[in-house]
Amino acid sequence: GKVDHECEVLVLGAGPGGYSAAFRSADLGMNTILVERFATLGGVCLNVGCIPSKALLHTTAVMDEVKTMSHHGITYGEPVIDMNQLRAYKDGVIAKLTGGLAGMAKARKVKVVRGLGRFLDANHVEVEMTNGEGQEPTGQKEVIRFQKAIIAVGSQPVKLPFLPVDPRIVDSTGALLLKSIPKRMLVIGGGIIGLEMATVYSTLGARIDIAEMLDGLMAGADRDLEKVWEKFNSGRFERVMLKTRATKAQVTDKGIEVTFEGENAPAEPQTYDLVLVAVGRSPNGKKISAAAAGIDVDERGFISVDRQMRTNVPNIFAIGDLIGQPMLAHKAVHEGHVAAEAAAGHKSYFDAKQIPSVAYTDPEVAWAGMTEEQCKAQGIAYEKGLFPWAASGRAIANGRDEGFTKLIFDATSKRIIGGGIVGTHAGDLIGEVCLAIEMGADAVDIGKTIHPHPTLGESVGLAAEAALGHCTDLP
Ligand code: FAD
Repeated sequence: GKVDHECEVLVLGAGPGGYSAAFRSADLGMNTILVERFATLGGVCLNVGCIPSKALLHTTAVMDEVKTMSHHGITYGEPVIDMNQLRAYKDGVIAKLTGGLAGMAKARKVKVVRGLGRFLDANHVEVEMTNGEGQEPTGQKEVIRFQKAIIAVGSQPVKLPFLPVDPRIVDSTGALLLKSIPKRMLVIGGGIIGLEMATVYSTLGARIDIAEMLDGLMAGADRDLEKVWEKFNSGRFERVMLKTRATKAQVTDKGIEVTFEGENAPAEPQTYDLVLVAVGRSPNGKKISAAAAGIDVDERGFISVDRQMRTNVPNIFAIGDLIGQPMLAHKAVHEGHVAAEAAAGHKSYFDAKQIPSVAYTDPEVAWAGMTEEQCKAQGIAYEKGLFPWAASGRAIANGRDEGFTKLIFDATSKRIIGGGIVGTHAGDLIGEVCLAIEMGADAVDIGKTIHPHPTLGESVGLAAEAALGHCTDLP
């Protein structure tokens, strides 16, 4: 058949995994084509994920903080919310970043082909060309021949089959559109994405119920961290219904009427103006005709890879949300680099000791490496050092001393194997813990490192001092 383009490396999907792989591949001197169905690069993370959610969370965190200024003797009036302006702010943030990526692709001579790609065989992809803002098909098709391919088609929100189709029932993408502020909102799913959006909408004025099937929110985090968040937010939400599932929903003239089942289910169905479904994401592996190239895809749509990100087909790699949990942008980026280097024949492989997780809620909750719960489940003997922010001068000066910093050390080797932080800016602070784990630091290394005073960051050093049994006498 006809071939429209040829390249050494074809990258399918331009999310954090895909663009990182394409840029590294071009930097290594390989002729690279990046295929993306949407108008902008950046994938879920930049367009409808990490970045827009953080733009809104920043806005609402400032709104919340301003309210506390009355304790400092400063009083502001009630906020006046201009939704058009707020949306424009968020869209401006996205545009700046996606525009930056387009410039970086151009500077590296990465050719971007706009369309929906699917495999014809292990050396050809057919692209159904798209245009417009979304993925409107042009009816045109192009074929690309490649030597190596890196698949980075990501994931999409899981749908609940019993929910009717209605503009008031949305996934995270719909919630980020910020069409209006609902009076009553239901968030189905108490994971990070659900809680972040619940935080945004509650500050904007919505009364929110959260339904979570499991017996705790923010699955994956140690309970002691989550409890601090929970206590601080005890007044924020109307109902937090653990061990409870939404089982039925119908559209009435008053809104979306939802029925619940489970331990904390309200007896009567509840009516909402907006329902956000945030129950997880499923990989897009089944939508790219992977079988035509001989690539194995499991029944859920995941593609499995070795430590070089190589699929069962030797010239084809896969990265990001598509290959498994945790579905996080920084994991996708790291894997993208490994895949591109492996495609160039380097001996790179995935060898990370830890992948951090952060809930950008208020306060933030961040953890890296082993959690205490994982240590207990796996029978790993550990020691911990904990520094309560109630003893941090900076946290007190900030009026936010509810948090703590905890480090987890292997009892035998004495090296740090994990850590968790809850408090303002915890997501920024966890980076030092990540580095310490990768470097195999012990409590002496961290405790003897001079941290600037007074900062929230010194809580990491002080938690290490606590693990050594030293008194932490620097407020
Ligand atoms: P994606 O970002 O999903 O990109 C895949 C790309 O492939 C998309 O652009 C898609 O259009 C394209 N594509 C798919 N199929 C085809 C095809 N057949 N042909 C051409 N193109 C195709 N992660 C964090 O680390 N931190 C956060 O704070 C964070 N916040 C989040 C908030 C929300 C609301 C959501 C939904 C996610 C968040 N995530 C966060 C997760 C993060 O967005 C993902 O882990 C990350 O985007 C995965 O990157 P990826 O490269 O694997 O795929």
